[in-house]
Amino acid sequence: MRILVQKFGGTSVATPELRRRVVGHVRRARQEGYHPVVVVSAMGRAGDPYATDTLLNLVDQEEARLSPRELDLLLSCGEIISAALLAGLLAREGIPAAALTGMQAGIITDDRFGDARIVEVEPAAVVALLQEGKVPVIAGFQGRTPEGEVTTLGRGGSDTSAAALAAALGAVAVEIYTDVDGVMTADPRVVPEARSLRTLTYREVVEMAHLGAKVVHPRAVEIAMEERIPLYIRSTRSESPGTLIGGLRPGQTIPRRLAVGGRRVVTAVTQIPGLAQVLLEGEEDWNRSPAFLAVFDALAGRGISLDMIHVSSRLIAFVVDGRQADQASEVLGGLGLLPEVGRGFAKVSAIGVGMHGVPGVMARIARALRSCGIAIYQTTDSHAVISCLVREEAATAAVRALHQEFGLADGETPSPDGAPQAQERNTVGRATRALR
Ligand code: ADP
Ligand code: MG
Repeated sequence: MRILVQKFGGTSVATPELRRRVVGHVRRARQEGYHPVVVVSAMGRAGDPYATDTLLNLVDQEEARLSPRELDLLLSCGEIISAALLAGLLAREGIPAAALTGMQAGIITDDRFGDARIVEVEPAAVVALLQEGKVPVIAGFQGRTPEGEVTTLGRGGSDTSAAALAAALGAVAVEIYTDVDGVMTADPRVVPEARSLRTLTYREVVEMAHLGAKVVHPRAVEIAMEERIPLYIRSTRSESPGTLIGGLRPGQTIPRRLAVGGRRVVTAVTQIPGLAQVLLEGEEDWNRSPAFLAVFDALAGRGISLDMIHVSSRLIAFVVDGRQADQASEVLGGLGLLPEVGRGFAKVSAIGVGMHGVPGVMARIARALRSCGIAIYQTTDSHAVISCLVREEAATAAVRALHQEFGLADGETPSPDGAPQAQERNTVGRATRALR
């Protein structure tokens, strides 16, 4: 049985016209011989009647005091409404379908309400529907704890539901349908000339997703990468192939010209706003100071996670989520330290597996930002990423400057290891499936 997981995001199921297109994508998959498994998000965005943000507003307006448990129960309803409606629309078009909640679909999570992590999938109910010839339509973004409490997976969680189900079912591929034509060189809302990328490596997309490209959830890409499942990101509105990550669906080919093309140094540019920078200047060498270890222990103890960490003999610098800035300041103050905490920063990143070993990438970034008068407050880098901390108000200009510097609006050159391998996966449903 060749199972294809098809995930439709909130904007993809927002209107009757779009929902007709969703039905069309499911029908086409069946015509191509796949057994589709559909995962859906809540319909629409803030203001739409059944959207997640609308449910949150309801709580705010009434000033209701929901515990994390009740909040998850409430938030899980948006996807359930979507799933039930879509199953009905498929049935109306003669496609037998059945809706399942995340819980019914066997998505087992830990008990971190609001940001739960999938730990296991028990796909028996989904497999049973497939064997009856039905299309399972599963509410994304949710699961249950081993004790049976309903949980939600955090923003973008439906992508993860789709990838985890694909792993458990041995699906041939996952298709993530959204409102843009694939993974692009930058967020098209920030860079209007951003271009859709035809092929990408898992690694690039994991980096992009962690560094602010919210087109796909990072955990979803990690699961697909671990399980070597090809991932497609494509538009609900069009028939264009979108972006292929990590492999090809059986029978599909990409032009050789693309597969063997030149090296690209930078593939995409992303940003994360809302950050705060913390600077701790030492009076003596930090390595000799007893407070050195206490700094990191105390922050960890309060659940504050650090990014862009820099340690030198005279300076400790790092970045925290802006919402945790006051807390960080208080923790460090408690140690008798005087941190300098700057709010309103953004991390702008240039990403590309092709930059490894190529000299001069940072020089180009520095020059491009300088020529726009944008100051760099801190940097970090890895083999495939260079990130710069800039003032939040300069972030859009910085993303545009780097997009231009690396010629990302111009034609496609795939990443060096981006030539996908054709592969076929057709094992069906193990009884239960643990995820790392
Ligand atoms: P969905 O509801 O389908 O899950 P999301 O809003 O989560 O949709 O993700 C799609 C959005 O991601 C796009 O509308 C786009 O503005 C944004 N985005 C950010 N960075 C990128 C990027 N590099 N490529 C494509 N889209 C991006
Ligand atoms: Mg999303």
